[in-house]
Amino acid sequence: MTDVLQDMKGKICIVTGAASGIGKAIAARYVASGAKVAIADIALDKAEAAAKELTDQGPGEAMGIDMDVTSEEAVNSGVAKVVDTWGTVDVLVSNAGVQIVHKLEDFPFDEWKKLLSIHLDGAFLTSKAVIPHMKKQGSGSIIFMGSVHSKEASPLKSAYVTAKHGLLGLARVISKEGGKDGVRANVICPGFVKTPLVEKQIPEQAKDLGISEEEVVSDVMLGETVDTEFTTVEDVAEIAHLFASFKTNALTGQSVVVSHGWYMN
Ligand code: NAD
Repeated sequence: MTDVLQDMKGKICIVTGAASGIGKAIAARYVASGAKVAIADIALDKAEAAAKELTDQGPGEAMGIDMDVTSEEAVNSGVAKVVDTWGTVDVLVSNAGVQIVHKLEDFPFDEWKKLLSIHLDGAFLTSKAVIPHMKKQGSGSIIFMGSVHSKEASPLKSAYVTAKHGLLGLARVISKEGGKDGVRANVICPGFVKTPLVEKQIPEQAKDLGISEEEVVSDVMLGETVDTEFTTVEDVAEIAHLFASFKTNALTGQSVVVSHGWYMN
């Protein structure tokens, strides 16, 4: 551990949407470095199963928390449970997310609002609930799960691209408001990662674009990468570990793209 990074042992972390995919891998990375991790998910059974699996692996521990990130009441009571159990919150990863694809003129308004609510209301509500605890102790790291779609656009993804661009703005405001109290906010922007969220899109996009599922993967998803490789959950978890363990405001208000060179900036 260098002076720049803090030990994650005993750090108290909340990861939303951590019953599956990227969030679960981030929770696993944190528990492997000795942290205490709340796996906050709308799928409580899966969250509890993931928490047990990670606690068995140790050396840290995990607990499942029932949380729909679009509900202010559920977010506040979930965060209160973490604070009652472990005392505070050091790290928030707002990761819960869904994908819904339609051409804009076919996009049902209720589906547009649902997607924006999970990604943006979820980031707002969870940040709002943890920031007072972070300010009280003079430190905290907030991490939003953005996407290459925080920087780029793709057809059929108007709601997702809008939400993921919005997270950059929210992280920058939190950085400016939180700086004097040691509260940092950063965004991770992965390329395509093979999780249930992406597996579901392959047949949907093939249908909407009138191409084969193989072409969706090789051309649409990975065509712009330097090596036609998927990014992995472990790649993303490592960036989440860096953002969580970095000690100072030297790294705040930033976004890191982890995408096999799909997007370069
Ligand atoms: P996933 O479907 O494997 O996991 C998403 C999790 O979020 C699930 O456990 C689900 O139960 C939970 N969730 C959904 N709605 C929720 C709600 N209202 N409240 C609480 N939890 C809820 O998906 P993933 O691929 O691991 O995606 C995680 C995040 O990563 C998302 O924000 C997604 O946009 C982002 N992302 C994914 C990729 C990718 O290629 N998979 C790329 C870039 C960004």
